[in-house]
Amino acid sequence: LVSRKKKAEDTIVSVNGEHIGQGTPSFIFGPCAVESQEQVDQVAQAINAKGLKLIRGGAYKPRTSPYDFQGLGLEGLKMLKKAADQYKLGVVSEIVTPHHLEEALDYVDIVQVGARNMQNFELLKAVGQINKPVLLKRGMSATVDEFIKAAEYIIANGNDQIILCERGIRTYEKATRNTLDISAVPILKQETHLPVFVDVTHSTGRRDLLLPAAKAAIAIGADGVMAEVHPDPAVALSDAQQQMSLPQFDEYYDSLMKFMKQYELKV
Ligand code: PEP
Ligand code: MN
Repeated sequence: LVSRKKKAEDTIVSVNGEHIGQGTPSFIFGPCAVESQEQVDQVAQAINAKGLKLIRGGAYKPRTSPYDFQGLGLEGLKMLKKAADQYKLGVVSEIVTPHHLEEALDYVDIVQVGARNMQNFELLKAVGQINKPVLLKRGMSATVDEFIKAAEYIIANGNDQIILCERGIRTYEKATRNTLDISAVPILKQETHLPVFVDVTHSTGRRDLLLPAAKAAIAIGADGVMAEVHPDPAVALSDAQQQMSLPQFDEYYDSLMKFMKQYELKV
């Protein structure tokens, strides 16, 4: 059902006035994790100031170590929703288990399924039964074919509002956190009718690569870019090395817009 052979036209996912996949890039910015009301308010204000429509922030964090910050859970989602409402933004947040879905749906506009859960088939079936869009991230060891089949689980259960997100894969290369598989973008665009995002933060894991990776994503035909923004990255409770500060975000977004105009890419 996700195949282009089944449906030739692009699927457009519309949230909060943002039409993802309609031909011009969309953007999802926000902190790795929701940490406090003040933190998300500051980021929401910065996103709104750029005229953008979506904010991200993790409340249920899938951390490698059980001793690392696990997220604020439902309280975090409430904080994010409050900030988003104040600045007229839609909320993107990861849900890690079907048990949290129902309580979360009051606060989330796009449900993110994280890389570690790309083949959590019970979660895929559960998000297939909701009537909100799903942002599905590629598993760090998943092939493009496995990624497409994971999306198929969601659509086969009734939900065709799916955004695919390339977020880097594990390779022998250590210069970046993961290897951004940029060619996955046009392959996914050819093989499926779904919008395709690139997460430049978790793929590169390097602040200095966020801009060139986003340029590459847009130039190769991605429908949008995700990146992490935190008011004070140095003290962030997760992903401190790779989040942008607010002034860095300001410069980043302006540089990206300049790049798009320079090459006559549709803004
Ligand atoms: C995230 O976006 O917060 C995240 C944990 O990313 P990934 O699932 O791609 O590692
Ligand atoms: Mn992160």
